[in-house]
Amino acid sequence: MKSPSASVLGLLLATSAFLHAAPDSNWLAHDRERPLPPVVNPGTASTQDQPGKPPSDSVVLFDGKDLTPWVAMDGSPTKWIVKDGALECVPGSGYVRTLQSFGDCQLHVEWAAPTPVHGDSQGRGNSGVFFGFNRYEIQVLDSYENKTYADGSAASYYGEYPPMVNACLPPGQWQTYDIIWTNPRFDAEGKLLAKARITVIHNGVLVQNNIEVERPNTGHWFNPPPYQVHPERLPIAFQDHGNPVRFRNLWVRELGSYRHKEFMLPNALLDTYVGDYPRDAHDTVKVRRLPDGLLSLTLAGGELIMHAASPTHFYAETTDVQCEFDFTGPKKIAAVSVGEDQSRAMKLERVTP
Ligand code: MG
Repeated sequence: MKSPSASVLGLLLATSAFLHAAPDSNWLAHDRERPLPPVVNPGTASTQDQPGKPPSDSVVLFDGKDLTPWVAMDGSPTKWIVKDGALECVPGSGYVRTLQSFGDCQLHVEWAAPTPVHGDSQGRGNSGVFFGFNRYEIQVLDSYENKTYADGSAASYYGEYPPMVNACLPPGQWQTYDIIWTNPRFDAEGKLLAKARITVIHNGVLVQNNIEVERPNTGHWFNPPPYQVHPERLPIAFQDHGNPVRFRNLWVRELGSYRHKEFMLPNALLDTYVGDYPRDAHDTVKVRRLPDGLLSLTLAGGELIMHAASPTHFYAETTDVQCEFDFTGPKKIAAVSVGEDQSRAMKLERVTP
């Protein structure tokens, strides 16, 4: 367990193994003992009239009806609307993000620019697909016969990489982005080890080929700040840029292997768990809130970073500690377990606030 003085930022990202593809030397060539890949039903392609079916192992983010995977950036209910089977941006309502967090992933997005056409350049059909909460934007823009700066075109990595070609369909038509996102890697001290990488296929056409992202493109639109350490898994977000862009058939396949799903819960909910939970006369478990939807849990003098696997269940990534909050009764209980056996959890009652 890390000491409380250890850099919280450094702990935010337990850097997972690099995903450099290399043959696994544990197996001979054509080894019959080697496990076969899991079987996935690949689903079906979309048409203009009909959204396709997602692959069987994907997390469905929007099925034409259900808005529950999406929230406003602070975790409160989003003001974006579901209309005619599409998720539609309500101008002025703010960005929308997934409640669930994702690391390296394959993301499928279908979007349509508004008709009739309004505005020009960056003012026409502008939205965006963000990875890392709000840090890295693939531009959504009506780039069909609409001149703008190259690195602000549809499917650009905004501000850095124009798409190789302009594969835009006319406004009103459904367009696809298939995006492979690879997170930046940081070490335990928060130092950048590897930059983020992105591949984008726009309407079936490769437009970004494993580009290396020089820096996040959020914040100052002309001179954004350099990389800063952030958690490995964060929500995916769509931009409200004042245009009623529509989305449908949204799904994602997480590419890392993780023990739990992860969610970025609303700060208002996380704040309800904050407080002191005495263990005995000499030790108190302290819970406090960190940025990026994380909790800090101080246990036996050490500090753990806790990730949400559900609205009530939290786990430490670096060691086998879990915590289940039960606030349904008159007492506010944190059941803290160490090791595999969760039936032996310490049931601790909150005394403050
Ligand atoms: Mg945009």
